[in-house]
Amino acid sequence: MKAQIITIGDELLIGQTVDTNSAWIGAELSKLGFDVCRRISIHDRREDILNTLAEVSGKSDIVLITGGLGPTSDDITKQTLCEFFSTKLVTSREVLDMIEEMYKQRNWPMNENNRRQAEVPETCRVLKNAAGTAPGMWFEKDKTIFVSMPGVPQEMKYIMYENVIPELKKRFSSQLIIHKNIMTYGIGESSLAEILKGFEEALPEEIKLAYLPAYGIIKLRLTATGPDKQLLENLLQQNVRKLYKIIPELIYGEDEELFEAAVGRLLKERGTTVCTAESCTGGKIASMLTSIPGSSVYYKGSVIAYDNSVKKNVLGVSAGTLEKHGAVSRETVEQMAVGARKLLKADYSLATSGIAGPDGGTEEKPVGTVWIAVSSETGTRALRLRYGTDRVTNINRFSVAALHLLWKEISGR
Ligand code: ATP
Ligand code: MG
Repeated sequence: MKAQIITIGDELLIGQTVDTNSAWIGAELSKLGFDVCRRISIHDRREDILNTLAEVSGKSDIVLITGGLGPTSDDITKQTLCEFFSTKLVTSREVLDMIEEMYKQRNWPMNENNRRQAEVPETCRVLKNAAGTAPGMWFEKDKTIFVSMPGVPQEMKYIMYENVIPELKKRFSSQLIIHKNIMTYGIGESSLAEILKGFEEALPEEIKLAYLPAYGIIKLRLTATGPDKQLLENLLQQNVRKLYKIIPELIYGEDEELFEAAVGRLLKERGTTVCTAESCTGGKIASMLTSIPGSSVYYKGSVIAYDNSVKKNVLGVSAGTLEKHGAVSRETVEQMAVGARKLLKADYSLATSGIAGPDGGTEEKPVGTVWIAVSSETGTRALRLRYGTDRVTNINRFSVAALHLLWKEISGR
């Protein structure tokens, strides 16, 4: 079941309008089990439309088209569709009645342009559009279904929900698509792919694996496709279990779970609390942790110790340490973590001190360097990491890395 999407409009090509129609249609068709194999955006031009239609014809089961259907002369899709399907425009009584009714209700005068909206290619099936005036049109040629819809997203969606999706469900035996995500952290994408090579090769044909990385977190998305729901769910479950056997130390959660939520879950299960002492992350970790509903049970608070005076006066980092080792050092973050845990009376504390950039790096401590410490009753551990040069990316990566250190400490992994 192959599908292609064509979006028409000069504004899409020059970036004035972002083509959200394709993305939306792609997601909907994929839910129905279609393999969306191509998305094409083209000019509002006769030759371009004709060439593209000829190119896709017979190459997939359905082609969904949006845009260029308005009443103005720059919208030439309708005439061009007539040419392609060897037919002519005729006035649809049904559409005209609807437009007249709509204008009457709103007390707007009808003009020639509005009447032109009721003209449709003679051989198409008209798809009602109660969200606007341009109807959708359904054609079939060379074993391919073509549906042309207005570009206005709301109108396109109306026609999709009311007409196209129900019809496609009837016509194409429904293929199910089920996703299962496994959230991992602690290894690069290529190394992970290396470890999972055998796993991937052994996957049944119903299941595909995708790697989706962000700030060091890699989401492993397993997608199962087929007609039998029970079978797909069983296969997914078996393969998720396999993953837990192969990479137990890397999996921190499932589905879309955020790292901060996973850490919160562990703290809550164990009835323990955490606090933070943040220099270079400036409260980012606090913000991440507190974005999780219910975090008040386990999150105590934070000291944003950006300036050395705060590290010293509030957290008790010794002046000698700062002088001898500097703010970005093992000794400083360890003392920050210990100081915060005592001050804020939490079971665990996390501390960060680093150089987010773009300036402030030295040969010994280049931009992207960060020291992270986690402290608990059983001791204090610190870790030095090094990332890139982009400030915002660094702050995000430092924060996720700190949460990971805490996660390892709590889970004992
Ligand atoms: P109308 O009857 O409103 O003229 P139309 O079919 O002619 O409808 P267009 O003129 O191509 O559609 O676009 C109408 C509006 O819909 C545009 O201003 C644009 O903002 C939006 N639009 C068009 N195509 C897309 C798309 N692919 N993704 C998102 N928005 C779109
Ligand atoms: Mg238009």
